[in-house]
Amino acid sequence: MNCPHCKNPMIILELGDVETDYCTVCEGIWLDAGELELLIEDSTAKTELLSSFQLIQHIKEKNIKCPICNTKMEKIYVGKEDKVIIDECKHGHGIWFDKGEILKVIKMGSVNQQNDIINLLTEMYENKIYPTNKEEG
Ligand SMILES: [Zn+2]
Ligand SMILES: [Zn+2]
Repeated sequence: MNCPHCKNPMIILELGDVETDYCTVCEGIWLDAGELELLIEDSTAKTELLSSFQLIQHIKEKNIKCPICNTKMEKIYVGKEDKVIIDECKHGHGIWFDKGEILKVIKMGSVNQQNDIINLLTEMYENKIYPTNKEEG
């Protein structure tokens, strides 16, 4: 699959048991439908996070296209106070996170801020330690 942002072929990045698609150029991450739910352990925090999704009607941020159906994706606010803007396919194929956004969103949905997935993403985005499994995906 190619990066919806810069068209670079993405690699598989394993986050726990979930295989995500990661772009080594812009450092964004694509999650297929349902994968975000799998990445968040705490069920109360997960429900709260998912119910905070709010469609943005007018925004200047550039629209990108779903890498599966090539339709313009919708901009969605996630979170209550510290909002993150993500791109979601309106046909339900998945979600695109620009660099670092997935870490913020998973932290919002986690009571435990020290799990393996958060640690891995923190290493990538804050400490610049990149995953080594560079197969194309
Ligand atoms: Zn990219
Ligand atoms: Zn789509």
